Amino acid sequence: MSVCSIIGCGIRKTPNQSSLTIHRIPRNECIKKKWLEAIGMENIKPNAKYIYICSLHFDDKCFNKTLDVTRLRDDAVPFKFVRVS
Ligand SMILES: [Zn+2]
Repeated sequence: MSVCSIIGCGIRKTPNQSSLTIHRIPRNECIKKKWLEAIGMENIKPNAKYIYICSLHFDDKCFNKTLDVTRLRDDAVPFKFVRVS
């Protein structure tokens, strides 16, 4: 089960949140670096084995949505880090 790795978010996907998607950090080192810079290491749970970011941290236009698949665009970078209380 993947859980969002952003501190203060920690959203996990449940069946009744069909619009929510959780994305693993890209393997591409260049994009990965952009993500980490955008997020800031202090906002990522330190014990995370893999970093997952939920769709709440992306703008709608970062996604390619088809009928049943939501894919993140290759150049999408997360940027919304308002803490959820
Ligand atoms: Zn999140």
